[in-house]
Amino acid sequence: MKLAEAGEWIATALVGQHSACVTCSFQAEAMVLLSILRESIPDIPVLFIDTGYHFQEVYRYRDEMTARYKLNLVNLRPAQTVRQQESQFGILHQSQPDLCCRLRKVEPLFRALESYDVWFAGLRRAQSPTRANLQVFDRFLLPSGKQLLKVSPLADWTDQEIWKFAREREIPLLPLYDAGYASVGCEPCTAVPTDPNNLRSGRWAGRKLECGIHLAEVR
Ligand code: SF4
Repeated sequence: MKLAEAGEWIATALVGQHSACVTCSFQAEAMVLLSILRESIPDIPVLFIDTGYHFQEVYRYRDEMTARYKLNLVNLRPAQTVRQQESQFGILHQSQPDLCCRLRKVEPLFRALESYDVWFAGLRRAQSPTRANLQVFDRFLLPSGKQLLKVSPLADWTDQEIWKFAREREIPLLPLYDAGYASVGCEPCTAVPTDPNNLRSGRWAGRKLECGIHLAEVR
């Protein structure tokens, strides 16, 4: 039922549109969304925000799944390498995580999104209180003034539905889940969740819940 609904939303979003992309963190919901999207758009650009701070397990898994699914991977890098940023600013993920996220995630993604009209994302309401009001369709405003259609076809999927779908489709998942992680971002800012009802409670040691890339919807 939810799969059919997600398929309909994807089809609706693509009517008359030719420049769609999907962001992919290589977490479970992202892989479920990719698996569904690939059926209609096998070569959809898969945007991965390569902050330079990811777990080695994430980089390995990204490369394995890219080869297995023959993904059209677009690796987005910040203007500065980790070494350059740390030389200039120090360890920003400790001192100013908002600035670190802006430089390493938000700016590279927003630059890349200028090339697209439709942005698919694997966001879900159940992931965090900050996503409780997530809509399937949103207008998203880039700093340049460009607006995109942002689509979250899995908005109402539960954790159980994601895992069940992945099992049934035999989608191998990031090995870090076996170590207790529930939401995986950059290594220095990711821990096992402290609140079982908030999957993102292990991110940024509770200092914040969002990096900023999902905070420009136009309502
Ligand atoms: S999640 Fe942490 S390391 Fe990654 S960009 Fe944000 S502050 Fe920096």
